[in-house]
Amino acid sequence: MATILTFAEVRDGKLRRPSLEAISEARRLAAGLGATVSTVLIGNGVAGLASGLGADTVHVFDDAALASYATEVWARAVAKVIAATKPVAVLIPFTALGKDLAPRIAAKVGAGLVSDCVALKVVDGRLEARRPMYAGKAFANVRWEGEPQIATLRPNVFALSAPEAGKTAQVVTETVESAARARVTSVKATAEGKVELSEAQVIVSGGRGLKGPEHFHLVQELGDAFGAAVGASRAIVDAGWVDHQLQVGQTGKTVSPSLYIACGISGAIQHLAGMSSSRIIVAINKDGDAPIFKVANYGLLGDAFEILPQLTEAAKAHFAAKG
Ligand SMILES: Cc1cc2nc3c(=O)[nH]c(=O)nc-3n(C[C@H](O)[C@H](O)[C@H](O)COP(=O)(O)OP(=O)(O)OC[C@H]3O[C@@H](n4cnc5c(N)ncnc54)[C@H](O)[C@@H]3O)c2cc1C
Repeated sequence: MATILTFAEVRDGKLRRPSLEAISEARRLAAGLGATVSTVLIGNGVAGLASGLGADTVHVFDDAALASYATEVWARAVAKVIAATKPVAVLIPFTALGKDLAPRIAAKVGAGLVSDCVALKVVDGRLEARRPMYAGKAFANVRWEGEPQIATLRPNVFALSAPEAGKTAQVVTETVESAARARVTSVKATAEGKVELSEAQVIVSGGRGLKGPEHFHLVQELGDAFGAAVGASRAIVDAGWVDHQLQVGQTGKTVSPSLYIACGISGAIQHLAGMSSSRIIVAINKDGDAPIFKVANYGLLGDAFEILPQLTEAAKAHFAAKG
């Protein structure tokens, strides 16, 4: 029986949400292809995560030597499963790790890779992917030649569906040669405890309309009221107001939250490239002609210095009332 393989990413002992989105999408596509869904899980002490993933089969590489990420080893492991199970498609989250891993796997197995997909469908028994081009100004529909059809999936775009109740996966214990010419030796998380921008469900971003770094707390406070991640335009990153890791856009992070609130951001094409696939966009800007209003679902025309404190109070009151 045909199978769709996904890669499940683990960080700090936890499955990352985009891995579950990839499995949910694989299950949706598998229904149209009459296929099963299998998943690769790699790391140290990860075997316990296999149950409840929602896949039919989970290939587990669990070894102390796999405690830290190494592109070569991870690619070797996934390629091994591909060679053994010959999946029709391989779905990998378009996370920082997925962006590093997927091309290496594709090269290793001699398959085509379509990156940053925002939709997948079955056409004549094969997959067709939709992906943004030219900084989101156009979309391309892409098909593969040969198999497996390898795709990376933009986080937060594909719907998450709960695994079937009572479904247990068949676990296949695997091993892989762990020698690597390069591996990650340590990770310095500068935003410890904060919501990761590319996985956040709500993002509040600030731009040059805030006038100076001393006012960025207005964005941070609205973010805190929503339990949101905080982002920024490149203009204020380049000006040194905030760290580069907050930058959203063509040369920053690509995000697709359920709610994106842009405060004092004009909406230059390079900024839109990173956030226009957000589900609901709210723009706060005092210029009615600002391009951000063209992509916004809701526009608040006015001064961010007046609107942001009011919105923060309203959000706090709303969430306090909800308990
Ligand atoms: C190759 C390249 C790559 C780039 N990559 C990126 C990228 O990844 N991300 C990115 O963001 N940009 C990127 N840029 C820069 C981009 O072109 C814009 O310059 C930048 O996004 C502008 O940032 P901004 O909207 O904060 O500032 P501005 O364009 O200066 O806009 C400020 C906005 O704030 C509004 N405003 C002013 N005062 C107030 C107020 N009191 N209340 C409410 N609104 C107010 C103004 O009306 C204006 O619309 C890139 C550019 C290039 C050339």
